[in-house]
Amino acid sequence: MPFKLDLKKYHAPPSTREACDILASEENSMPIAGGTGIYIFSNKGMMSNVDTLVNLGKLNLSFVEKDGEKIRIGATTRLSDMGAGITGIQMLDEAVQSIPKEVRHMGTMGGQIFTAFPAFDLSVCLLALNGSISVTDGYRDKEIAMSNVYNAMFDPAIPRSSIIESVEAPATKFNRTTYQKFSYTKHGFSDVSLAIAMRVEGDFIEDISLAVGGGSLDSEPIKLPHVEGAMRGNEIDQELLDMGFDSILNSTGLEFYSDHKSSSDYRKRMVGTMLRRGVKKLTGGVAAHV
Ligand SMILES: Cc1cc2nc3c(=O)[nH]c(=O)nc-3n(C[C@H](O)[C@H](O)[C@H](O)COP(=O)(O)OP(=O)(O)OC[C@H]3O[C@@H](n4cnc5c(N)ncnc54)[C@H](O)[C@@H]3O)c2cc1C
Repeated sequence: MPFKLDLKKYHAPPSTREACDILASEENSMPIAGGTGIYIFSNKGMMSNVDTLVNLGKLNLSFVEKDGEKIRIGATTRLSDMGAGITGIQMLDEAVQSIPKEVRHMGTMGGQIFTAFPAFDLSVCLLALNGSISVTDGYRDKEIAMSNVYNAMFDPAIPRSSIIESVEAPATKFNRTTYQKFSYTKHGFSDVSLAIAMRVEGDFIEDISLAVGGGSLDSEPIKLPHVEGAMRGNEIDQELLDMGFDSILNSTGLEFYSDHKSSSDYRKRMVGTMLRRGVKKLTGGVAAHV
């Protein structure tokens, strides 16, 4: 199925400034990177006003750079080029691996973030990693923390004529990370997902950061500060895993859709189960009594 766009113009500028100038001057224009998100949403009739595409492929934004404590990933880096141990961050490998092969070889990090869709796995991971994005309007660059990137689902806090240049995440701050994803088919979109990033020292959780996503989430991907606060500083033992996550999750504002497959409450309980499983998986060799 082709894109469902009434396309009149297609540009492939050689610089971010030219790309941003075109986006600013042509009202119905939009950037295209891998095109996989545009494929989905144009076919749902959500891009009927777009008549001009600005290809970002010539902007030299495909790279993964490690700089001591930080890792920078260029916005047009293919998802497949940030998995398989390339970043050294396990949750990114797991998330990339869960995406259909054809899609991960075309889709990009910038497209994931800009779409602000909670079923896009890498955007959930980057939120849990307390990452940030670098955005340019062609003249000035701006860094935005992932916690401020989304106004709402499908509504990124990024001006229409700006481009995401790169994303940044701490490389060593968290020493245990995992991405837990439930989907109805092996390589399907997530229904519920949880990204867990922890700093474990001995048997204790020195730091923890959690982000929830999933196609049944009734919002943009969100963090779980209440749960993080309840777990931070605790010893990893059975008492921790038996903690009443469900009641804490009920006080977080986390809401899923209820539909014929599951209720919102059931999906919230899945988040608690994913958290217990994820912590067990990450601490298997650390706390023998768990
Ligand atoms: C069949 C199928 C299955 C999929 N399954 C999964 C899955 O299991 N998990 C998952 O996470 N994802 C899944 N996806 C989604 C896919 O990962 C995303 O569509 C992809 O990552 C988006 O990147 P892209 O480069 O293709 O974006 P594009 O389609 O090129 O663009 C998407 C949006 O982002 C904007 N954009 C792109 N790059 C930039 C930039 N640098 N700056 C500003 N705006 C930008 C575009 O203007 C557009 O609005 C699936 C997609 C398909 C088609």
